[in-house]
Parts: sequence; C-alpha cells; structure tokens
Amino acid sequence: THFGFESVAEADKAKRVAGVFSSVASRYDIMNDLMSLGLHRVWKAFTIQLAGVRAGHRVLDVAGGTADLSLAFAKRVGPTGQVWLTDINGAMLSHGRDRLIDRGYPLPVAQCDAEKLPFPDDYFNLVTVAFGLRNMTHKDQALAEMRRVLKPGGQLMVLEFSQVYKPLAPVYDLYSFKLLPWLGKQVAGDADSYRYLAESIRMHPGQDELKAMMEQIGLEKVDYFNLTGGVVALHRGFKI
Ligand code: SAM
Repeated sequence: THFGFESVAEADKAKRVAGVFSSVASRYDIMNDLMSLGLHRVWKAFTIQLAGVRAGHRVLDVAGGTADLSLAFAKRVGPTGQVWLTDINGAMLSHGRDRLIDRGYPLPVAQCDAEKLPFPDDYFNLVTVAFGLRNMTHKDQALAEMRRVLKPGGQLMVLEFSQVYKPLAPVYDLYSFKLLPWLGKQVAGDADSYRYLAESIRMHPGQDELKAMMEQIGLEKVDYFNLTGGVVALHRGFKI
C-alpha cells in the first residue's frame, strides 16, 4: 500500500517462512512422518498415481523441499525425460539434492521463488506443488507462473492442507493446536514452527476458493479430491 504496511507484513512473512524451513530442514522427514502419522506418504502416493507421468515427460516440482515427489517422478520419466527440483530455501534444497544423489537420481535443481520461475513458457508436462502454496506470499502470481511454464495440455497439481469436514473439526483442532506444537517441541525443539504451521493451515483458502483461484489464472477443467476427510486436498487443473 501507499503506507507500506502491506510490504512490511509481506517481508515478515517471507522471513518467517525462510526461518521455519531452515530450522526444521534436517529433521523435516521424520517430522513429516510423525506429524501426519505417516499419512503424507499416502497423500503423495495418490498424487503420483493420478499424475500419470510417463517416459519422456518433463516435470517441475515447485517448493519440492526434501524431494519426495521429485524422486518418484524421476523413476518414471526415464532417460529422455526431465525432473527439476526447485525450492526457495537453500537448506531444504541441498537436503533434497543430497537425498536424490544418495538414491541414484542426481536431478537438476534450482533455488527459486515460485512467483518467478526461471523456465521458459510452455515447457513442462506436469508442475507439482506439495505443501508449498500455503507459504507463498502472492499465491495467484505463483499459480500464474506455474501455468505459464506448462505446455498446452499439461497439468498443475496442488497438494495442500485444506478444510476438514465439519464433524472432524474439534478433533483436528485439538490435534493441530495442542498436540502438534508439543510434538514439535519434543522432537525438533521447536514449538513455534509447528504453531505457525497450524495457523497457516487455517488461513489457507479452502477447497472451492482455491479451485476458483486456479480458474481465475486461466487453468481449465479444475477439480479436486478431498483426502483424509479434507485434512488435505489435491487440486488439479489443465492448461489448454
Ligand atoms: N514439497 C515438499 C514435501 O511435500 O515434502 C516440501 C514441502 S515444505 C512443507 C514447503 C516448502 O515450500 C519449503 O521447502 C519451503 O522452502 C518452500 N517454499 C516456501 N515458499 C516458497 C516460494 N515462494 N517459492 C518456492 N518455494 C517456497
């Protein structure tokens, strides 16, 4: 705004997000399993299944962090395909890259903001962003960038926390506001990052709102799948 309030808040958010992921990068994998009771593997497996990646495809994993999705896609694209692991955070990215090298898939990586992707127009068959959109400052701009780099006919998949079915809300609130920060403290010595996680989930657009945002930036045939009672939703849209 004219008074700069917005930009101060945005700079704060970006700094905060950088701090959170730098502080948890090394324990990120174990925390993922613990916090989600292993469910993040199921959510990711569903995404991988639906993605239908084939030999020769070009795939971009935005906010790819520790590279779970990248690794699965790398196994599918074969020698003629390409998978790029990208993330804004250097610590997360080098952790992911090391994991990929350890598993025998030395993929190309790029440290970049999803709001400004260093790739040409119409390049990828598939762009994925798993548990990353929530942290982005200008979500519509990030989504538009992801659409830009897709080939016509390509799809964007957004895996993200979403709105749980109403009857589940009390249990879910108890879990995420009480148990999660406590777990974060015990395992990562960091309750604040996990409190932030619970708050950021509540602030994130719900299923229909995100669908509308994706349509707004020009994606077509947008639909979504609720997973685990809406704890997570997988949104998908196509560039036609
Ligand atoms: N995709 C991985 C997964 O599902 O396990 C990692 C998810 S992790 C919760 C979120 C990631 O988003 C972090 O690695 C963080 O650095 C990244 N991130 C946050 N804001 C970003 C932005 N504007 N551009 C690119 N990556 C961003």
